[in-house]
Parts: sequence; structure tokens; C-alpha cells
Amino acid sequence: MPAQLLDGNALSKKLRAEIAARGAIVTAKGVRPGLAVIVVGENPASQVYVRNKVKACEEVGFHSVLERYSAELGEEELLARIATLNADPSIHGILVQLPLPEHIAAERVLEAIAPEKDVDGFHVANAGALMVGQPEFKPCTPYGCMKILESIDYPIRGARAVIVGASNIVGKPMAMLLLQAGATVTICNSKTRDLAHHTKDADILVVATGKPKMISGDMVKNGAVVIDVGINRLPDGKLCGDVDFDAAKYVAGWITPVPGGVGPMTITMLLMNTLEAAEKAAKL
Ligand code: NDP
Repeated sequence: MPAQLLDGNALSKKLRAEIAARGAIVTAKGVRPGLAVIVVGENPASQVYVRNKVKACEEVGFHSVLERYSAELGEEELLARIATLNADPSIHGILVQLPLPEHIAAERVLEAIAPEKDVDGFHVANAGALMVGQPEFKPCTPYGCMKILESIDYPIRGARAVIVGASNIVGKPMAMLLLQAGATVTICNSKTRDLAHHTKDADILVVATGKPKMISGDMVKNGAVVIDVGINRLPDGKLCGDVDFDAAKYVAGWITPVPGGVGPMTITMLLMNTLEAAEKAAKL
């Protein structure tokens, strides 16, 4: 029997309605949630992502600012722009779309964002806070994955969770959130020996590698929850995840599609973090 589909669009719609309602309350108190999105260079995927983020803000009634700069923008100019936004009371969240051009040090830029406006949760202060179980902002993609598990009341405590991919923005924070929820967590990377041995043991399998369909059906445990973070464009222009969906859906108990799974949830949790930043600013 095929797995149940974990529909990120439907869950997002529900959560965005709650976000819009809470946003209206904070706006009525004179603090309209505001997000600034900065994109540097012409990366086509980045352009799509930032447009979607700004559109999502508009749909929930938030104030948003999209700043686009050419790939020639200097690091100091970008840092100066961030300093201005840090001081702008109409902006509660600042997001710098990655990747940045090579001449700009991404770490320096991310650390220039005031931690209380770091709605992506990438600042080292926020990463450290997450590590010790006191996150200010949870990184949006792992936060969205946790909401997906919550939506099916999955009993995370005591479950065996395997994360394939160990990046700072997805794999590592995902591991922290699952660990804090009581799962027994394994993090795999490109050097992991016998990857299938680990994945086949996973009650919760989260995959974020950027390698199209690398998780085959026989690498999935019967009845597992499979959360596919990957977004890959195939030569025919179609999008696919890091999991072979058509095979895995006959083994898994639940599975996220690509597109329409984790992607919309990432944007939803960005809205949630921006809302929470505004609520804190309004002392709600
Ligand atoms: P990175 O390239 O930063 O990290 C990839 C990770 O996967 C690394 O830890 C790498 O290992 C590991 N890896 C690569 N190949 C293998 C392999 N064969 N076996 C096991 N591990 C492997 O990627 P990101 O975390 O930034 O993104 C991953 C994917 O998720 C991409 O497709 C990206 O587009 C997508 N994404 C989707 C989002 C969404 O909203 N849906 C948001 C963010 C990302 P090592 O550390 O050894 O190099």
C-alpha cells in the first residue's frame, strides 16, 4: 500500500492562516511584521526563492523589502546595508539569500545580521543557542520538517532518526531538533560507509544532500517517515528530490513529495520566525 503523502502545501496553508491572524494582532499594536530580503547576483534559483518569500509576506499582510544587487557588489557595501537594516525598526527579519558571489565571505555577512533579526537562524549565536536547546530562531527548513512530523503526531521520542546530509543550514540543525525531541539520531555525510545500513534502520529518514534520487526504495525501512529536503532540476526541466519517490512510496509509511513537501514549509517557517521577531519587538 503506498505511503501517505505529507502535503507541505496544505499544512502551509493552515499555518499561514494562523500566522496572518497573529500578524494582524501585532500590526494592530503598531508593529507590522517586516522582512528584508537581500539577493546578490543573478542566480536564477535564488531569484525564484526570493520572489516566493516576498510574495508569501504580502499574502499574510507583512511588510517586505526586496533588495537586489549586482554580483559586483562589494562586501563592505553589503555589510553597510545590513547595518542600516539592523537599525530599521520597521524590519524584524533580515535574510541574505545564499549562495553569495565568491568574493563575499558568507560567514562575515551572516554574522553581521543582528541575532534578534536573524530569522534564518544561521548566525553563530543562534546556531549555538540551538545546540544548547534554547533556540531564538530555528532554521526554517528543519523547523518545517519538525512541523511536518508534528502534523501527524509522530512519536519522535525514542524513534530512530537518520539524517543524510550534514550542512549547517539543514542536516546539523535538523539533528539538534530531533535529538531535543527525544530521537536517537545518526547524521550521515558523503564519507559514510554503507549508507543503506543506516537508512534502513530509520523510523524517521531526512535526506538533504542535493543528489537526485540517491535514496532508492530498498534503502528505506518499511513504514518509515521519509522527509525529502532535496530540490534538484532534471535535464527535462522537472524537479525531483534526493529520494526516489516512485520507489520509496511503496515502502515508507509517510513521504513528502518534491515539489510540494518541505519547500513551502521552509517559507512558512520564515514567516513564523519573522512574526515571532515582531511579537518580541512589540513585547507581546
Ligand atoms: P550542502 O551541499 O551544503 O550539503 C550536502 C550534504 O550532503 C553534505 O553534508 C554532504 O556530505 C552530504 N552528501 C552529499 N552527497 C552524499 C552522499 N552520496 N551520501 C551521503 N551524504 C552526502 O547542501 P544543503 O544542505 O544546502 O542542501 C541539500 C539539498 O537540500 C539541496 O538539494 C538543496 O537544494 C535542498 N534544500 C532545500 C530546501 C527546501 O526548502 N526544500 C532548503 C535548503 C536546501 P559532506 O559533508 O561529506 O560533504
